[in-house]
Amino acid sequence: MIDATHDPSRRSWVESANEHPHFPIQNLPLGVFSKEDESARGGIAIGDEIFDLRAALEAGLFGGEARAAAEAAAGPMLNPLLALGATARQALRRRVSDILDANGADRARIEAARDRLLHLADDCTMHVPAAIGDYTDFFAGIHHARNGGKLNRPDNPLAANYKYVPVAYHSRASSIRASGTDVRRPKGQRLSAGREVPEYGPCERLDYEMELGIWIGPGNAHGEPIPIARAAEHIAGFCLLNDWSARDIQTWESQPLGPFLAKSFQTSISPWIVTPEALVPFRIAQPARPEGDPAPLPYLFDAADQACGGLSIDLEVLLLTEAMRDRGLPPHRMSRANARELYWTVAQMVAHHTAGGCDLRPGDLFGSGTISDPDPSGFGALLEITEAGRKPVVLSSGETRTFLQDGDEVIFRGTCRADGFVPIGFGECRGRVVG
Ligand code: MN
Repeated sequence: MIDATHDPSRRSWVESANEHPHFPIQNLPLGVFSKEDESARGGIAIGDEIFDLRAALEAGLFGGEARAAAEAAAGPMLNPLLALGATARQALRRRVSDILDANGADRARIEAARDRLLHLADDCTMHVPAAIGDYTDFFAGIHHARNGGKLNRPDNPLAANYKYVPVAYHSRASSIRASGTDVRRPKGQRLSAGREVPEYGPCERLDYEMELGIWIGPGNAHGEPIPIARAAEHIAGFCLLNDWSARDIQTWESQPLGPFLAKSFQTSISPWIVTPEALVPFRIAQPARPEGDPAPLPYLFDAADQACGGLSIDLEVLLLTEAMRDRGLPPHRMSRANARELYWTVAQMVAHHTAGGCDLRPGDLFGSGTISDPDPSGFGALLEITEAGRKPVVLSSGETRTFLQDGDEVIFRGTCRADGFVPIGFGECRGRVVG
């Protein structure tokens, strides 16, 4: 629901927040940060600074449910806060919005404690914000699924199950890293063209996948599926996610059980959890399925979810090569797409994931699947852009790429715009490939 925290006229006394492209007072995403040798704790992004929830708690700025939420966010992992669910998270949002409001009632007292309550983001390190018990990667970007399928099955690119099942695989939680962590080129088995036996060595076809990350809040009891109409209550927020993919390893190893080492070496996420509350103005109806597509089975269909379960998020992929960095050039934009292209809503993912009785836990993470636009300017992976390496892409520096080289840095950005509302963003998800 829209409330005073979304009011476009609300400004913050933290000057850098006003007109900030990602973190105005209308966003207030949750994260975990540390500064120098102090312990990691929860914070909220505001402009170029981080609002310190532990310091605010110690300063006595919270009461009631907002206090319970801030206490749950005072440690190095946000799982306790994610477990509390929407009511506590909303109370925290309302109170922090009031605290940072330029016209807030307590402004003078709070601003006097500014040095304790706020830290320049540039002076802090961001961490993966929760202990991730399980990470599941979906495949809900239908244009990506089709583009990938075309490479092997040009006449029948989508598998028969695609429009019935929100397809996913269980991926690896232990190797998820926050934005800014280098990505070491993985080694593995690959069967090179014209060879009869595989060899073990460094990946030669390293790729990225532009995805939305979905953070799970309250879990469900083992054996008790989450009905789709209740699924939204279990979603605590969103981030950007790079599902780095070793295509040569993937091609060889994936039959019949799906990706393994091709995906497990690292996944990068943007460190801020953008809450469902912040995203309310950017909700859209789930786009109608094309004529002739089957309706979702009843356990995956909810009228309210269809009416407002979609998300309009502009997603951008940039590539900064070593040569661009050396020459002071800006990164090259590889693509722009929008999350509205997802074939399944996040509520459908939650309902399907639990439909067989699997229990989700607070801090579990989903990847949406690679999000591509129908147009080639919006393809979310090099596999699609270069047609599996057959068509090199020419970069603004004059360099070409089929897959990633050492020194290449991949940068994702996500922003939300809607008439009558202040735009918000996700910050960045960055990772540089090292040999
Ligand atoms: Mn993926």
